[in-house]
Amino acid sequence: MSQNQRRYYTQDRQQSNSRSGGSSNNHGRSTGTNRTIDEKRKSLPIFNFKDHIIRKIEQNQVVILRGDTGSGKSTQLPQYLLEEGISGRKKIVCTQPRRVAAKSLAGRVAEEVGCELGTDVGYQIRHEKKCDDNTKIIFMTDGVFLIECLKEDDLRDYSVVILDEVHERTLNMDATFGLVKEILKKRATLKVIVTSATMNSGDFSKYFNNAETIEIPGRQFGVSITYEDRDTPLRTMVKEVVQKVAIIHWQNGPGDILAFLTGKEEIEDAADALDDILKTSEAKLHHKIIQLHRAVDREEYKQLFEPYPRFTRKIILATNIAETSITIEGVKYVVDCGYVKQKMYNPESKVDSLVAVRVSQAQANQRKGRAGRTQEGECYRMYTQKTFDRLLAINIPEILRVQLSQVVLILKSIGINNIGAFDFMDKPNPHSIKEAEDVLQQLDALDTSRKITPIGLKMMEIPLEPQLAKILLTSMELECSREIIIVLSMINNFSQNLFYRPRKKQREADVAKKAFDQPEGDMLTLLEVYKQWIANDCDSTWSHKNFVNHQALEEALQVKQNLEFVVRTKHMDIKSCQGDKIKIQKAILSGYFMNRARLLTRIRQGNLYRRETTDNDEAYISPKSSLFKSPPTWVIFQDIITTNRGNQMHNVTLVTEEWLAKYRNR
Ligand code: ADP
Ligand code: MG
Repeated sequence: MSQNQRRYYTQDRQQSNSRSGGSSNNHGRSTGTNRTIDEKRKSLPIFNFKDHIIRKIEQNQVVILRGDTGSGKSTQLPQYLLEEGISGRKKIVCTQPRRVAAKSLAGRVAEEVGCELGTDVGYQIRHEKKCDDNTKIIFMTDGVFLIECLKEDDLRDYSVVILDEVHERTLNMDATFGLVKEILKKRATLKVIVTSATMNSGDFSKYFNNAETIEIPGRQFGVSITYEDRDTPLRTMVKEVVQKVAIIHWQNGPGDILAFLTGKEEIEDAADALDDILKTSEAKLHHKIIQLHRAVDREEYKQLFEPYPRFTRKIILATNIAETSITIEGVKYVVDCGYVKQKMYNPESKVDSLVAVRVSQAQANQRKGRAGRTQEGECYRMYTQKTFDRLLAINIPEILRVQLSQVVLILKSIGINNIGAFDFMDKPNPHSIKEAEDVLQQLDALDTSRKITPIGLKMMEIPLEPQLAKILLTSMELECSREIIIVLSMINNFSQNLFYRPRKKQREADVAKKAFDQPEGDMLTLLEVYKQWIANDCDSTWSHKNFVNHQALEEALQVKQNLEFVVRTKHMDIKSCQGDKIKIQKAILSGYFMNRARLLTRIRQGNLYRRETTDNDEAYISPKSSLFKSPPTWVIFQDIITTNRGNQMHNVTLVTEEWLAKYRNR
């Protein structure tokens, strides 16, 4: 553990301990569902602070705003700035760590302003935007905003930047902070508002040269906490959360239930299981199960805010999105599974993977607080009090736990060569920086003096992470970019699991999947699925029949169109390989050659590989892969996940010793 990481074990612990389990500021009021938008706006805690906030912003270049989730920071602040003329003729940008939140906030604010989404109020997220040159309030994901910061014009289109939800401390945010700090020196008229929902706002103030902090007192009712006698293991988490929710539903009076789970798949499984249990049982109240995760579309999302008939209880199954990004009124019961999925760099396997880890105390308390928004609430923690006491005080920022190649490339592209000297809020480990530079050098993005190369600059123009951008550039040379763009759209990191396997139809789902499998590997299988989907007129009944996720395909189509647009604007030709799959395999190899593994033995239940680039680590092909049953001598993979049976390689592609030769001495 680095010194920086260790800091997160001690900081604020005292504070979070004293905050747990208590109630504060009991001056809330109940929320009627039929209130007009105007009344609703005036009822938010932030409303009484409007003049104060505006004055402080006029007087200062940077202001820190701390306020509990739901106090109105994200929806009201941009409108206040607009109403009071602070923004002048320029734009107000509000950054968000999550795509879903950026879209939904834009929708809500457009509704409150009374304009059509995409006119005065809009959003821009990777591969998708709804805004125009005259848009006044724009919500952006922090990744998109980071790219805005790189442009030479010093954010000249913007008058105010709201860095929202900074307690999330994503990698993009941390890089943005440093760049914004530089721009502030050059543009005296630029205003920055930093908003956070958790208590450690002092860190942000210090970082932004002791900026003034405004505190908005929240309205929070008391929430009682119930711990378990033992920690619920991850293995049975979904089942036990479902049981807990069912018991709360059967035994308790009105009030919605919000259960935190780790991810989309877990939520889908829980929704299925819960539906089964509740369908066949008697309860005083009707129920409606609502899922909330990154792949929920806007229509489904609206259900969250809709009023329900009096005797119906909403049961919301959510990821950590519901912790701070989205506030749902009416929740009285919270079930906290105690885990969150986080991207973590594994120094042994040298890749990032998404793993379920324990939440921090700050997160657990934030989850708890969701139960006390409109009335006294109850929080059920699926772990012991002792476990809670041992949790980290706050989350470790992403910059201290993930692969840094993308951020390093971004900084190098604007001439920041000494990454270690950049003004980060938390400095990344020098070893992580070196590893990121090594990867970029292997991809030809950096030269031997670690400066960016013309290839590196080209990679920067493609809205994909460095390895994928390299694959796309190679496909231009090999004349297979039409196919590679499809593959890249299908594996895009926010895209969801393409194949689904409902609990009751696993055999049929497996048969359907097998029909798509390609002997060259999973990337080619994805291409095949896409082709068949197009050949079937993108029909959702086809998707359903074949157990493929229709929404994921639609998302891929959108990404594909955006990538094609980007490629064309750079005057690059999109060419097809006309069925020559070897070209596709070679293009993929150019980005993933470091993720190569050689077959050791075939064992009864599968296969065993040895990785050449890490200290001869062992790994095996995922049973979901099309190569699982016929393992080739050499493979490359996109992702590796450590399970209790070993390292599992995902998205595997067959390559040959001959193709690998040119990469093996890198
Ligand atoms: P904060 O950013 O301080 O957490 P928000 O500005 O996001 O607060 O939310 C303020 C209020 O607006 C909350 O009561 C929330 O429920 C409501 N709200 C936010 N988004 C929507 C939406 N899409 N539809 C209806 N109400 C919403
Ligand atoms: Mg917010």
